[in-house]
Amino acid sequence: RAAKAGGEPVRAYMPSMGQIFLRRFQLVTQFRHAVETGQVKVHYQPKVALPSRNVLGVEALVRWTHPEYGDLHPDEFVPAIEAAGLVGALTGFVMEQALTKVRKWLDKGLRISAAVNISVRSLAEQDFPEQVSDLLTRYGVPPELLTLELTESGVMADPQKALPVLRRLHALGVVLAVDDFGTGYSSLAYLRQLPVDEVKIDKSFVFGMGTDLSDLAVVRSIVELGHSLGLSVVAEGVEEDVARDQLSAMGCDVIQGYLISRPLSESRLEAWLQARTTKTPGRMDETVLTL
Ligand code: C2E
Ligand code: MG
Ligand code: MG
Ligand code: MG
Repeated sequence: RAAKAGGEPVRAYMPSMGQIFLRRFQLVTQFRHAVETGQVKVHYQPKVALPSRNVLGVEALVRWTHPEYGDLHPDEFVPAIEAAGLVGALTGFVMEQALTKVRKWLDKGLRISAAVNISVRSLAEQDFPEQVSDLLTRYGVPPELLTLELTESGVMADPQKALPVLRRLHALGVVLAVDDFGTGYSSLAYLRQLPVDEVKIDKSFVFGMGTDLSDLAVVRSIVELGHSLGLSVVAEGVEEDVARDQLSAMGCDVIQGYLISRPLSESRLEAWLQARTTKTPGRMDETVLTL
């Protein structure tokens, strides 16, 4: 764009408020069509147990290949989808994709769980637990092979509303995880009251733990706190050997991050899993997946 008359040049690389608003509006109006036409896909990132290095499961992460804007990450469109009240369509789609995969793996003798990120908006829907239960039945997936990841800030925003829904989800037998733990301002007392099974340490602390002593201290205290509450502790954002080794020494249960694998498309995930599957000799039903 041209320079303002007599003034400084307009910074053309900064989208204007109007452009941002228009893009958000477009994403919201195009979302359903995008799901129906295959622009929206699910990628999967493996989760690996320590110290065994067994592949326990995958986290489902939504992706949108937009015809005009290219590959979009969830941070770019999920908030707009949520604000427009369309998150049910997103969650339903991701959950069906993930459960289809889990069912296919079960048919091949592999027990791999899937984790799906759940918007706090879904916890406000009174029939959400029934929707989950119906999907598990429809896909023939045992509840313990589905993990629902809820952000700390989401749950803590309105614990009174979220708590009854969480209790009903927990009663189904699905695994409940608190995502991005450490970034919100949850009191530890609340974590104790929540019917959750897993706590995921936010990647911002994990990134820094090799060089920053305060990050290391935060990670260590979450591992200890989690274990003292009987929770499984997962670290996300593991990018380096040092972090993995420190987490292993602390007794962290599960790690996830670029060191193990980036989120993968369906076909690349299948190849990744295939390369790590060992059949126990003489026992076709026993399949072990190790890194
Ligand atoms: P999250 O659930 O905390 O997911 C972890 C994010 O960190 C993912 O970003 C993942 O690609 C990224 N990540 C994983 N390991 C590493 C690493 O080692 N290094 C770095 N730098 N990044 C790593 P992504 O896929 O862009 O997702 C961002 C967030 O969007 C997710 O955070 C989740 O809160 C949300 N999200 C993703 N899929 C869905 C969905 O289907 N529904 C809803 N409601 N939210 C979703
Ligand atoms: Mg997550
Ligand atoms: Mg997270
Ligand atoms: Mg996050």
